This record gives sequence, structure tokens and C-alpha cells, in this order.
Amino acid sequence: MAKQTAGPEIERLIALLARLPGLGHRSARKAALALLKRRSDLLEPLAAALTEAASSIVTCERCGNIDTVSPCTICRDPRRDATLIVVVEEIGDLWALERAGVVGGLYHVLGGHLSPLDGIGPEDLNIGKLIERAVPPVEEVLLALNATVEGQSTAHYLTEQLQGRGLKVTRLAQGVPIGGELDYLDEGTLAAAIRSRRTL
Ligand SMILES: [Zn+2]
Repeated sequence: MAKQTAGPEIERLIALLARLPGLGHRSARKAALALLKRRSDLLEPLAAALTEAASSIVTCERCGNIDTVSPCTICRDPRRDATLIVVVEEIGDLWALERAGVVGGLYHVLGGHLSPLDGIGPEDLNIGKLIERAVPPVEEVLLALNATVEGQSTAHYLTEQLQGRGLKVTRLAQGVPIGGELDYLDEGTLAAAIRSRRTL
């Protein structure tokens, strides 16, 4: 067992930080040290923000987003285009699209993707509510799912469920990323780009 170099409270802080995505034990130690050194301007405000977040976050009853109010701020915003629902796998995907500022519509967070091997079926995802929401004024459901096997099979399943409801079901384009060089792309991406070519 590794030798302890700090008291149990600090070791516990490091162990908890190490459980965050992208932070190994070494980075967690660095982060913990930074927090401990900057007690008043970093550690204490962070602790307060964490306590506040823990007590006030709720999952939006409508779209599955996380916020401090339900329905969430996005669902409540009257300036949003209520004819478009953008379906994403995770809240991180919603945040990414919001950062890009390209979605004027509403969202629906599935909470993952179908994965029979891991025992994740339609009933384990936030799909029932999506079907309920897919009624007028909604005119289009955009499936903004990951370009992975699971993401695409989930999109296929949702397309079947949403068909025959008089609304348009669309998905993201696949192809050459912005700034991408053809020579470096994999064959799958190149093939998708050729298939989705557009007339200029
Ligand atoms: Zn919402």
C-alpha cells in the first residue's frame, strides 16, 4: 500500500477528485494542492458552489436536461423554436450544441444509447417522453446522436418509433470535419462524406 503523505481529510479530497473524468491520481493531487493553497479564493467558493449545486439541481421533467428549475431554462424560453426537438445522448452533448449556438429549438436528452450487450434497452432511456413530445407544434425531430455503432442503431430505432406521425425526422450530416485534411481521414468518414455530397 502506498505511504500516506497527508491527513485523512486531504487524502479523501484527493481520492474524490481522482474519480472525476480526465483526472488521474497525479492530477488529482495537483488539483487538491491548488485548492488547499488557495483556500479563500478557490477552495471555499468551490465548496459553497458544490453544496449549492448538490441541493438545487433537478432533472427537467420535460427534456431530461439538468438545471435548478424544472422545466429547465431552455424548455421555459419562449424565444426557442418549439417546432424543433434536437435529440442528444448526454447532457454534455446538449452543452456542446449550446456552446456552438446553432440550435434555436428545444432538446431531448436520452441519457445514453441503446446497447444490448450492456443490457440497455429502450425502457432504460428517456424515450417514452420523447414519443409523447413528438406531437404538434413539433414539426421536426433532429437525431443529433454520436456517429458510433450504438448511436446510429439508437437513431435507427428512434426513426422507426417516430415514423408515421407526420413529422420530419432528420439526423446530423457526416463527413469531413472543419479543418480536416482528406489524407488523414479514415475510410468510414471519407465514404460518409462522399455519400452526403452536396451540389454547390
Ligand atoms: Zn428541459
